[in-house]
Amino acid sequence: MNRDSATVADVLLPLALPGPYSYRRPPGLLLTPGDYVVVPLGPRQMIGVVWALRDAAPEGRALRDVAERFDFPPLAETHRKFVDWLAAYYLEPAGNVLRMVLRVPAALGGAREQLAYRASGTAPRRLTPQRARVLDVARDGFAMRASELAEAAGVGTSVIKAMVKDGALEEVSLPALRSFAEPDLGAGTLQLTRDQEQAARELRAVVAARIHKVVLLDGVTGSGKTEVYFEAMAAALAGGGQVLLLLPEIALTSTFLARVEARFGVEPAQWHSDLRLRERERVWRGLATGEARIVVGARSALFLPWKKLGLIVVDEEHEGAYKQDDGVSYHARDMAVLYGTIGKFPVILSSATPSLESLVNVDRGRYGLVRLKDRHGRPELPQISLIDMKTAKLDSGSWLSVPLVDELATTLAAGDQALLFLNRRGYAPLTLCRACGHRLECPNCAASLVEHRFRRQLMCHHCGHLEAIPKACPACQAEGKLVPVGPGIERLAEEAARRFPEARLAILSSDLSRGTLLRDALRQVERGEHNLVIGTQLVAKGHHFPFLTLVGVVDADLALESSDPRAGERTWALMAQVAGRAGRGDKPGRALIQTHMPDHPLMQALRKGDRDGYLNQEKSIRERAGLPPYGRLAALIISGSDGAETERFARSLAKIAPSAAGLTVLGPAPAPIALVRGRHRWRFLVKAQREVNLQAYLRDWLKEVKPKGSLALAVDVDPYSFL
Ligand code: ADP
Ligand code: ZN
Repeated sequence: MNRDSATVADVLLPLALPGPYSYRRPPGLLLTPGDYVVVPLGPRQMIGVVWALRDAAPEGRALRDVAERFDFPPLAETHRKFVDWLAAYYLEPAGNVLRMVLRVPAALGGAREQLAYRASGTAPRRLTPQRARVLDVARDGFAMRASELAEAAGVGTSVIKAMVKDGALEEVSLPALRSFAEPDLGAGTLQLTRDQEQAARELRAVVAARIHKVVLLDGVTGSGKTEVYFEAMAAALAGGGQVLLLLPEIALTSTFLARVEARFGVEPAQWHSDLRLRERERVWRGLATGEARIVVGARSALFLPWKKLGLIVVDEEHEGAYKQDDGVSYHARDMAVLYGTIGKFPVILSSATPSLESLVNVDRGRYGLVRLKDRHGRPELPQISLIDMKTAKLDSGSWLSVPLVDELATTLAAGDQALLFLNRRGYAPLTLCRACGHRLECPNCAASLVEHRFRRQLMCHHCGHLEAIPKACPACQAEGKLVPVGPGIERLAEEAARRFPEARLAILSSDLSRGTLLRDALRQVERGEHNLVIGTQLVAKGHHFPFLTLVGVVDADLALESSDPRAGERTWALMAQVAGRAGRGDKPGRALIQTHMPDHPLMQALRKGDRDGYLNQEKSIRERAGLPPYGRLAALIISGSDGAETERFARSLAKIAPSAAGLTVLGPAPAPIALVRGRHRWRFLVKAQREVNLQAYLRDWLKEVKPKGSLALAVDVDPYSFL
């Protein structure tokens, strides 16, 4: 496109719009596709991105002018295509996807507004609720621009100005953004073992070929996958590309980042939800200009304005946390592969327990496979034994069987570290009245309230509703009859403390610690400052605890008892991951699994360490049922505040569902959790053969559908949650 002659700019805005809006290019304003611009929309001014330039205006409409262009490198064409393709794949308006790219608008205008404000410590003369909110935001002492402070506090900038005048806020100039140093590719190389070197050579060759190829790096925990993919990253950096290393958010620990820094001689850019605004800005700018070369980030790092990506590594590729279900729902692993297709660069998927999706893609010859067999310096995974809970005798209020308690005692006596794993937050999952049998439920959701004893509250895990633990049963008014049923992690900790009063306990669950607190706690565990760790799946993954020699799984059956087609695969991965925490240091490790189903093929396979046997069996079950990865699924979730109206809407959709070959529409049926946050929920599941164009079918079905009032319709392509 000749940018000097084009008269019309199609600008995509970060709003729920299916496509770009057209604006006039004022004479004298040079534009190129990908430019960030400001355009009017109604009474507002908005930042958008030039999606295309054209010569002729659509007939009969006077276009408004593009107001200005940011002096900033344009959003790369690859990235724009990525936005469009992702939107089409998930049936999302492209503008919603662009919104995820434009998360840090301040980074664009960074050069303009360099004054910032922070709390001065002087109380304002007049404290309105608005001013109190501003002080609340400014309390942490970090300076923010007036517009950012206003937005975070939900007030207008005039409030900020008045508070500056009043002396409650003080003005400071923002320091220049720190620049990114060039990586030193030879900084911290290890002497690789022969197997590792062979694997690294294969990956380097893929990177050097500069083609799109997906490689599954499959090796038990501790086999050196990280060291090996570091070599591929070095090769991509040497070739001039940028590199993204994706991790599940929780695995982004300071220890891991230090490892990346040691290998490449520079602090990598990080991207996760705890980042301060200013640091976000630095990373966003650094990537757009190409100055930042390595990002270690959580799933949303995919949307950063990459100038020239040369490699994506998805670590723990099997991890469910890569699926985002709020807002735009997408799977970061799948989208990493899509990005690689568009950008023609390789993608490495790394895991000790690869997803069936990836393994089947290897079977089909679509993905390459690089396998690391041995644990570095140690031949095998920890030995796994099963404890049959059908015959184990437990005292009431107790969940640890005799063999597990004995092993724990031996481990602690030897000065080693043990981990008890229970994937259930809180104190007890259920509270019942012993007098009338009433169970305490959330007022907004069809779900039990979970007792959280540390907080002294009952909590709903679906909507976050909190209430005090009542003294009397709300149904029969009997006092002192409410009893907790079943264990959560807090209750397990109580038992552990009772049995091992000398132990130095650490309890790790997302309720008890988050962010830096959690990172600190994990570091203490790494250093061996605790010898008995009790944790949810938070501790199961990715961490390197060198002193840990025993893992006890308190209830392995929890995850299996679900209608989710991936329940078996997921339980396998979780068990292998958590068992794999043991024996990563000098001493060998072992794992004990308490189960009521010791004869279940999954449990037997765990005991024998027969991963491939188990997964082959899973594959044939899925293949026969036409489930992913052999078939495709999409879910439609219909919700509304009125039960009858929601049901009527769901049934009306069923009536207009087109029939198509190779595709079945199941439902509508009330969702397993039929009420969440006061909204009634119904579901459809669309099951299609692999050759069917599922998106085209859904688009056709839903093209005329316009939910009214409180009704809403959400489409989940490739669903991972069936609740
Ligand atoms: P994985 O990613 O497969 O779990 P890691 O790469 O984290 O495995 O390796 C496990 C541990 O072994 C790490 O502490 C790592 O530094 C160490 N390690 C792996 N390979 C080597 C090697 N060739 N030389 C020295 N240490 C190694
Ligand atoms: Zn609730």
